[in-house]
Amino acid sequence: RFILAPSSTKIHDHEQLHVFFVPFMSPGHQIDMARIFASRGVKATILTTPLNISRFESSINRDDYHHHNPIKLLLLNFPSTAANLPPNCENLDAIPSRDLSYNFSKAIMMLQPQADDLVRQCQPDAIISDMNFPWTAEIARKYGIPRLVFRGTCCFSLSLSVAAAQHKPNVNVSSDTETFLVPGLPRPVYITQSQMPDQFFGNTDLQEFFEKFIKAERNSYGVVANTFFEIEPDYVKHYEKVTGKVVYPVGPPRGNEGDRGSVDEDYCVSWLDSRESNSVLYVCFGSLCEFAESQLLEIALGLESSNICFIWVIKSDAFLLLDKDFEERVKDRGLIIKGWAPQVLILNHPAVGGFMTHCGWNSVLESVSSGAPMITWPLFAEQFYNGNFVLTHWKIGVGVGVESGLAWGEEEKIGVLVRRDRVEKVVYQFMINGGEEVEGMRKRARKLSELAKIAVSKGGSSYVNVGLLIDDLLNQKVERLSKKKESVDQFV
Ligand code: UDP
Repeated sequence: RFILAPSSTKIHDHEQLHVFFVPFMSPGHQIDMARIFASRGVKATILTTPLNISRFESSINRDDYHHHNPIKLLLLNFPSTAANLPPNCENLDAIPSRDLSYNFSKAIMMLQPQADDLVRQCQPDAIISDMNFPWTAEIARKYGIPRLVFRGTCCFSLSLSVAAAQHKPNVNVSSDTETFLVPGLPRPVYITQSQMPDQFFGNTDLQEFFEKFIKAERNSYGVVANTFFEIEPDYVKHYEKVTGKVVYPVGPPRGNEGDRGSVDEDYCVSWLDSRESNSVLYVCFGSLCEFAESQLLEIALGLESSNICFIWVIKSDAFLLLDKDFEERVKDRGLIIKGWAPQVLILNHPAVGGFMTHCGWNSVLESVSSGAPMITWPLFAEQFYNGNFVLTHWKIGVGVGVESGLAWGEEEKIGVLVRRDRVEKVVYQFMINGGEEVEGMRKRARKLSELAKIAVSKGGSSYVNVGLLIDDLLNQKVERLSKKKESVDQFV
């Protein structure tokens, strides 16, 4: 199946496939899958809540296929009151406290009846839903259509989670930081207990939801993965083997270049245009990390004393009160973006020579796609696994030196995780003094970037996978319709 065909063939041109997409309400997990399929002629309908619609409506409207095959948006009313959430908390990045994650998950579970109603009315041919909506598997079964689960991370991390849960190599370790081998994977992988993602859950109440996710994946028709075959062929095949599901790697998405920045994008580009190639470090920790002010100050001072050029994205500038002259002191070589950066646009600029990242999978994939090597600073969830893959498998990055994962939200409470001198040393070594070692990383990253581009272009592996899935779902539709016709005929 992974042998590349010249292009996928549409076997039933007269039929348009209608797919419901249910994306998770978090900035890193939005609408890319619907866009990928809509750009291939699928009638794509996204189910989401009003505030999430307003976040991405304009970017959908700008898509080039939009005028002939628009993505449709259907509303799910978010049950804030019933789930004891304050109003306007329809996205994970909007909840005022991490202690409310349970309520957020509960609210998501409550959306089932509304979605059921919409499926009944619109009769889509399939559902592709984020794993956080396990009830989509029940709805799909009820209406006799396939449900595919969307996994927003790489098959390496997924396989590692499965192997760790199955073999429990961590039970006999003497400390959280003792390194052990995780057996049963295509290659030897070493981790520590403190890097395992269940650290993220912190709140054990959430465990009940994760069990539902796993069960729903088992009951799904297949897995749509935000990765591409060439970066992890062994792990795509391995994940298929251990889950017994067909895995369709369809990434990387083309990204939201220029879509959503809270900075003037032209300014950003002209700032980058004035820099030498590979001279700028892009520093961003995704949409959910909330560093304490003390940590932000350490990063600021580390970046300053390293003397490098940088773009640094911060969600809040309150820490600048701790050092009022910082911006003025670095203004000739540092661009600080407060709010939301046009990340894909920045990473793809030739002046950007590296990315300091928390290793959220979207960020890693965007870094790979743009050919930028990374300074990895994983925090929570499966970020240590992603970081492990970056450092030990692809060898396209260096670690900042953090050894243990956190529960989401702990980063704010703990305060300083990495001191300024460490930031300075790693950043300087990577951007200025890296020599052949970093040049090698850059070369490997560029190679991956070429592979990523090929994967999504016509005839590439991800392009073909999208076509294969469309064909498969169309076949199922035809079969379903003819069975329905047969049973009607019997009664006539
Ligand atoms: N992102 C962005 N601008 C920002 C911060 C994040 O465009 O200022 C995007 C980034 O390009 C990526 C996503 O938000 O697509 C973050 O996803 P990721 O999986 O890396 O991390 P998460 O936010 O889920 O922790």
